[in-house]
Amino acid sequence: MSGTPPVEEIYHGIAVSRGIAIGPTHVIARGFTAPDVYEISEHAVTSEQERYLKALATTQKQLGELQKRMEAISGREEGLVFEAHSMILDDPGVTQEVLRAISERRQNAEFSFYAVMQTYLESMRRVSDAYLKERTIDIEDICQRVLRNFSSDDLPENALDQAHLLVTYDLTPSDTASMDRSKILGFVTESGSFNSHTAILARALGIPAIVGIGNAVLETRALAPAIIDGYSGTFIVYPSEETTAHYRALNKERQAARKELETLRDQESNTRDGHHITLSANIEFTHELDAVREHCAEGVGLFRTEFFLLESSEHPDEEAQTKVYTELAEGISPNQGIIRTLDAGGDKLSAEPLPEPEPNPFLGWRGIRISLDRQELFKKQLRAILRASAKGKLGMMFPFISGMTELKSCRKLVQTCMEELDKEGLPYDQNLEIGAMIEIPSAVLVADELAKEVDFFSIGTNDLIQYTVAVDRINHRVAKLYRSSHPSVIRLIKMTTDAAKRAGIWTGICGEMAADLHLTPLLIGLGVDELSVGPRELAPVRKALLSLDFSECQALAEKALTLSTAAEILELSRNAAYAAYADLLGENSI
Ligand code: PEP
Ligand code: MG
Repeated sequence: MSGTPPVEEIYHGIAVSRGIAIGPTHVIARGFTAPDVYEISEHAVTSEQERYLKALATTQKQLGELQKRMEAISGREEGLVFEAHSMILDDPGVTQEVLRAISERRQNAEFSFYAVMQTYLESMRRVSDAYLKERTIDIEDICQRVLRNFSSDDLPENALDQAHLLVTYDLTPSDTASMDRSKILGFVTESGSFNSHTAILARALGIPAIVGIGNAVLETRALAPAIIDGYSGTFIVYPSEETTAHYRALNKERQAARKELETLRDQESNTRDGHHITLSANIEFTHELDAVREHCAEGVGLFRTEFFLLESSEHPDEEAQTKVYTELAEGISPNQGIIRTLDAGGDKLSAEPLPEPEPNPFLGWRGIRISLDRQELFKKQLRAILRASAKGKLGMMFPFISGMTELKSCRKLVQTCMEELDKEGLPYDQNLEIGAMIEIPSAVLVADELAKEVDFFSIGTNDLIQYTVAVDRINHRVAKLYRSSHPSVIRLIKMTTDAAKRAGIWTGICGEMAADLHLTPLLIGLGVDELSVGPRELAPVRKALLSLDFSECQALAEKALTLSTAAEILELSRNAAYAAYADLLGENSI
C-alpha cells in the first residue's frame, strides 16, 4: 500500500478466549446473500463458465479436506456430513443448468450460480417433508462456500492459504471445532457471548477469540493487518509499528508466565489450609485427553457427547459409541471420566429435524426430555457407557433434569440396560457413579429428593444462570444482565451443596463459572467439592486453589449470602481473589 499509512482502528468486544493473534484479516459476510450481478459479453461466456467450474472444484476440494479433518478429530461418522454436501455439488443437472444460465442470461458466473440455487432452494422450502426442509440449510451452507470461492479469485494468490484472523458474523460450534489451527490464528465475531458453545470450544482449542464486536464484518477490510487481543477483547486493525511491537512483547511475556504456572501441575489442588478440591476437565472430543493429562486434571468432569453424536447425519450405533467411551475410560484411567448423556435442542444441535421450529426452544424439547422421548436411542447410549465402564472408571450424568420423575425414569432405564447386559454376559462397572446436572432452578428446589437417587450433583451454571435470571446465554443484547454472582444464583448453589451434604454425596460445578478466577473464593466457600474447567483453565484454577484459605472462603461465602446485589458479591469475591493471586488477574491474566 502506498501513501500515508492507514490510521489504527480499534474495536472492543467480549474477550472469550485468551491469547494474542497477529496476522491479516479474512472477512466472511453473513448468510447466503446475493452476489453482485453484471452483464457479460459473448466473449466472456467461456471464461465465466470456467470461473464457475473452478469455484466448484475448489469447494469440492475443501469439503474433502474438511471431511478428512473431521474424521481425524472425531471419527468417520462425523466426516460423512461433508461427503453428503459434496454430493450436492456433484449433481450434473445443477452444473449444466448453471453453465446454461451463464451463456443464456449473459450474467456473471456467481450470480448465475446464485440464481439457479435459489430456485432449487425455494422449491425445497415449499415441500412438506421435514427432512428435505432441514437440508436447505446444508445447501445454503454450500452455496455460501462456493460464492466465497468466487470472491477469493480477487485476492492475491494463496492469500487464504496464509494464516489469518477470521472476521465473521457468527460461527457455529461445528465451524469452530473444525478450524485449522495452523490457518486460523484467532477469530472475531459480531454476534456471540462468553457462554456460547462456540466460545467454549474456542477456549478448549486455545484459539484467541473476541465476540460481540458490532459491525466488524462491515467495517473491516479483507487482508488488512490486525491484532486480536483475547485478554482484553480489543481488536486492532492497521496497528502502528509501536502497537505491534507492544503486542509481540506482551505475547512473549504471557507465554513465559504460563510456562511458569505449569510448573505447579503436579501439585494436588489443596487450599493453603489443606482442603482438597477435585480439579477436573471439560472436554468435547477424546483427542483433548492429551491436554487433560498434560495438565494433570484429576478426571474428566464433563464429556459433552452431543458434538460427536449429532454432527453426522446418522446417529452412531452402540458399537461406535462404546469405542469412543472406551477411549475416554482408558485415556483418563485411573481417574474418572464423567459422560453427560445427549444434551440436544435449545441452542445446541438438534437431535432430529422438527416439522416446524419450536416457538421457544430454550423451554422446549431439549436435554433429557429428548432422551426420554426417544428411549431406543437413549438406551443405545446408556448401554455403550456401561459397556465402556468395564475398561476404566466412568461415571454418567443426565442433563436438564427438572425433577424427580425424569431422574427416576433415567435410573429405571439404566437398570434395564444393566439387566440386559447381565443376560448377554457383557461386563460393566456395577458401581459406576450416576449424577444429575443441576441447571434448572426447579431441580435445586427439590435437590433433597434428587440427592437420594444419585451419587453426585454437577451444577451446570451456564444454564442455571440463564433460567434463574431469565437471560438467554447467547443473546448479546442482554449479556450484561447475565450475572453469575447474582444473589439468586449463589443461593441456589448453596442450597445444592447443602442438600448434597445432607445426603452424603458430592457436588461439582462444570459450567464456565468454575473457571472464573474472580469467583473461585466464593465457590469454594459455598461448599463445592469439584471444579471442572476447560483444559487450558486447569493451570490458573490450580494456582488459585493453592493460594486460597478454605476457612476464609467459608466466611466470605457466609457474608456473600447476606448481600443483595450481583455487584456487591462480585466485589467481595474479587477482593479476596486479588489478595490471594493478583498475578493471575486483570492485566496479568494468562
Ligand atoms: C451448563 O449448562 O453449565 C453446562 C455445563 O452445560 P452446557 O454448557 O453444555 O449447556
Ligand atoms: Mg447446560
